[in-house]
Amino acid sequence: MAAVPQSPNGASRYMPPPIAGEYSALTDKQKTLLEIAATLGRERFAPRAEAVDRDAVFPFANYDDMREAGLLRICVPEKHGGWGADFATYVMVAAEIGRHCGATALTYNMHVCSTIWSGFIADDLDMSAADRAEHERIRAIHYRRIVEEGKIYSQPFSEGGAAAAGKAPWGTLARKVDGGYVVNGKKIFASLAGAADYYGILCTLDRPGATQRDSMYLAVHRDLPGVTVTGDWDPLGMRGTVSRTLLFKDVFVPESERLMPEGIYAQAALRWPHMFATLSPTYMGIAQAAYDFTVQYLRGEVPGMPPVKRRMYPTKQVAVAEMKIRLEQTRAIFLQNARAACVDPSKEVRLGIYAAHYTIMENANEICRLAVRTCGGQSMLKSLPLERLYRDSRCGSLMLPWTAELCVDRLGRECLYESGERDEEPVL
Ligand SMILES: Cc1cc2nc3c(=O)[nH]c(=O)nc-3n(C[C@H](O)[C@H](O)[C@H](O)COP(=O)(O)OP(=O)(O)OC[C@H]3O[C@@H](n4cnc5c(N)ncnc54)[C@H](O)[C@@H]3O)c2cc1C
Repeated sequence: MAAVPQSPNGASRYMPPPIAGEYSALTDKQKTLLEIAATLGRERFAPRAEAVDRDAVFPFANYDDMREAGLLRICVPEKHGGWGADFATYVMVAAEIGRHCGATALTYNMHVCSTIWSGFIADDLDMSAADRAEHERIRAIHYRRIVEEGKIYSQPFSEGGAAAAGKAPWGTLARKVDGGYVVNGKKIFASLAGAADYYGILCTLDRPGATQRDSMYLAVHRDLPGVTVTGDWDPLGMRGTVSRTLLFKDVFVPESERLMPEGIYAQAALRWPHMFATLSPTYMGIAQAAYDFTVQYLRGEVPGMPPVKRRMYPTKQVAVAEMKIRLEQTRAIFLQNARAACVDPSKEVRLGIYAAHYTIMENANEICRLAVRTCGGQSMLKSLPLERLYRDSRCGSLMLPWTAELCVDRLGRECLYESGERDEEPVL
């Protein structure tokens, strides 16, 4: 039997468990990366999180730490100098970071996705040999920037219309010209605005009759002429993401900035749906953090607070039990989803992704809500992390393309209809 964890002075105390629980065998690489993330998170990110949130500023110092520890290159293939982490490894590491600073984890996701999409996802897609060779040449440029220069990428897609929900072509247009593209458009909620070195935008190749199949994925350097960051940023939660608006006015983007060959993004979105499921690990981490805080609070073990115990009241015990049940449900579906990621998943797996994404986002907020109610008034003071976790958790189910509403929308439809099925049109 495992020994009861001891604090340095010999008294037993609550030790927060690993984010992946203790049911899964982890690879050596997973253990190493999770240990790096946990140490940075505990010792560096958590102490900075209050100021990042209060001032709504980008966590540059956390990125310096992640750069130094090699986390910016987590999903860069090994042959390009990265860790070559797979989907499951990445989402566990992102969740661990989310325990300590939600804004860092969410923005980290935008950065890492540029390497996942151009990396192991692109490897699974159909491309001509010429496109494959060209993609290999171009992605080596992007990976070199990250591995050798520590550059940061972001993923501004949202435009305020139907495109980010996957229902229309992107309004931002890329017109093909000699040696590259001229980009015009606007992206809202652009996390890492003014902080990323490259904005990895989705846009539409500008040609007559263009559809979603003409989507392009381009890296736009922050300092290119015609790129502007605009608008203020004073939101409820996830304040350190600094998701301001980006404007692109006649921006010339060289061909070498293609993060995927022309036309390949649409194939990725159809065949690798887990590509959109990387937003939820942050919220798995927040759920765990809210639970950890509650247990420490009720045991009188929150650092800097008087050691007042509140755990003896039955109502507290019931509430913590409810939180733990939700947390374990969330973790189970999170890990199942992490392991299931692949190209061309079956219909059941696809439905499972929506269910997992919905569950993680909604449960994170519910666990935070229970935590505030259970811990009581002092727990919502800004000097403690819970009220930030509560606000950050509210943002999860708003993220397109899979908001909670859109997950329900897709699930309901796809549970009841097979591909191509239609109902008869009503006569009247
Ligand atoms: C903290 C934070 C960081 C973000 N960072 C980024 C980022 O880095 N990059 C990025 O691209 N975006 C980012 N976003 C934007 C996010 O993904 C959404 O695009 C944004 O929240 C949408 O806001 P909206 O009110 O314009 O949504 P709307 O498009 O107005 O949608 C409102 C709601 O209506 C529902 N809805 C929308 N379309 C449909 C439809 N066709 N059918 C049925 N229901 C629908 C959805 O549930 C949606 O939540 C971020 C958002 C937040 C809150």
